Amino acid sequence: MQLYGRLLLAIVFGTIALNAQQGYWQQSADYIMDIDFDTEKHQFKGEQQLTYTNNSGDTLTKVFYHLYYNAFQPGSMMDIRSRTISDPDGRVGSRIYHLKEDEIGYHHVNELKQDGSDVKFKVTGTILEVDLVKPLLPGKKTELNMKFDSQVPVQIRRTGRMNAEGISYSMTQWYPKLAEYDKHGWHADPYVGREFHGVWGSFDVTIHLDSAFMIGGTGYLKNAQEIGHGYEDASKAVKRKDGKKLSWNFKVDKVHDFAWAADPDFTHDIVKVENGPNLHFIYQRDSIAANWDSLKAYTVQTFEMMNEHYGKYPYEDYTIIQGGDGGMEYPMATLIAAKGSFRDLVSVTVHESIHSWYQGVLAFNESKYPWMDEGFTTYCQYMIMDSLFHENRLNPLSRAYSSYAFLVESGLQEPMTTHGDHYNKNRTYGISTYLKGAIYLHQLCYIIGEDNFKQGMLDLWKLWAFKHPDPTDFKRVMEKRSGLELDWYNEQWVGTTNSIDYAVKSMELKADSSVITIEKIGLLPMPLDVLVTYESGEQQLLYIPLEILRGEKPVEKGTATRVLMEDWPWPYPYYVLNLEGKVKSVEIDPSLRMADVDRSNNSFPIRSSHQFFGKKN
Ligand SMILES: [Zn+2]
Repeated sequence: MQLYGRLLLAIVFGTIALNAQQGYWQQSADYIMDIDFDTEKHQFKGEQQLTYTNNSGDTLTKVFYHLYYNAFQPGSMMDIRSRTISDPDGRVGSRIYHLKEDEIGYHHVNELKQDGSDVKFKVTGTILEVDLVKPLLPGKKTELNMKFDSQVPVQIRRTGRMNAEGISYSMTQWYPKLAEYDKHGWHADPYVGREFHGVWGSFDVTIHLDSAFMIGGTGYLKNAQEIGHGYEDASKAVKRKDGKKLSWNFKVDKVHDFAWAADPDFTHDIVKVENGPNLHFIYQRDSIAANWDSLKAYTVQTFEMMNEHYGKYPYEDYTIIQGGDGGMEYPMATLIAAKGSFRDLVSVTVHESIHSWYQGVLAFNESKYPWMDEGFTTYCQYMIMDSLFHENRLNPLSRAYSSYAFLVESGLQEPMTTHGDHYNKNRTYGISTYLKGAIYLHQLCYIIGEDNFKQGMLDLWKLWAFKHPDPTDFKRVMEKRSGLELDWYNEQWVGTTNSIDYAVKSMELKADSSVITIEKIGLLPMPLDVLVTYESGEQQLLYIPLEILRGEKPVEKGTATRVLMEDWPWPYPYYVLNLEGKVKSVEIDPSLRMADVDRSNNSFPIRSSHQFFGKKN
């Protein structure tokens, strides 16, 4: 091949390779919706034009939609699940079972056409299954036009009307939403109350709503001068069209869901993050107004820290809305409960804001890999809360480690490969996905070293923003950054319930030498940092790499002089350290990042406190 030809090909294929992310593809769903809302009946009529692009190599003969509102009916899978799980979520319990006809949620699909022709479809609970009239070939688009009627349920969880904090409408999971199809196939998961997944695309949503209400949500309000409510350019007059209803038009590209909320008593404040988005705070200004006022600076700092350490937030707006129930993440917006303590308000806002990075832009499949979405978010939440409240803990995740150790002790662990909907217990789900998921990252930082870890989190952002990375994609990012092999870590920490326990088994001291034996008790092997303090006062950090790591982490800042030891092949139960000089004390993992379930045997002499809650010196 000629050099010129090669160059040209390199240019052509170079562009493709960058977009394709090593053969990666994803579907695209572009929605235009027109919603006519009746606030007396709590119902709406919807028209949806969906352009679906099949970027897979497969010919599709079916598509699936989620009809989440159908979960809020007596006898639904969510209702049965909630009433039969051994530790029900108190917010749901048997509330769905007791909903009356005018309190349930539903989506009635009245008409569905593909490129102008009627299609056959079937509704099973929360899933709409559609037989396409024309198969959708690889690389082709099709247009699906739907007419539907919906009733907003009384709020049970997340979505619904008139919740405990008196917000009229929390409109999440509120429209027929196409299910995702990816290399794993369809993700038409029936809704039982947990997490979500969506198709990347765009939204153009017009909502005709009683003019007494104010709306906050995903996207950019395109007709702000006709609406006002704080969205307008204040230097120009608001020209509202007369009429009982206002028509709010929101548009946005590169998102995978659209959520909103509406209330007649909403206040709307905007604070700008320097070199970042406008933060919109939309809430009822009542007894907790002072908390909302104080919250603003904390949220700005959260965005600043996230932008610096984990990647720059890419949209121009982010909206924090009082939604009245828990806290849930959506692209460019969150709905949160606000009537707890100030710290609770900050904590939920920090957590949900951080989801903008992991659920919003990196868009992990929250259902299939809840430990990635909730775990990564919770990791950053702990780090940022530690900084916001100047707590300066040696291990900011110490409480997560304690809860994880409790779960191991309880014998109720389930591997993190469990689909979010299928954990046996809510408690196990909570600790596994949020806390063991967060520890996954903090412990990874221990394994590959802080510099690699920090850079790797930014690599993840650069390579995988606006896609759907999975656990292997993440692992590869960290392997490439660190040069270390991490298969074993994902396999064991994510795929099994094996735990870590190393112990200082014995210490033999002579006048000028010491023999220390370390024992591997837990099934999960790890590389070890061992801090040795000699009688002379000198300290060394003995670093014992794990053979299957195929290398060693770089020296980390702020540690004692590091001494690189021989690799530890994992089946060996003991590792003997022959040291010159008389040892005074020894401690395995002084940085407390390794999730050793029994820290009482990690040091010699035995420490009375395990320092889980200790402050930095
Ligand atoms: Zn979360």
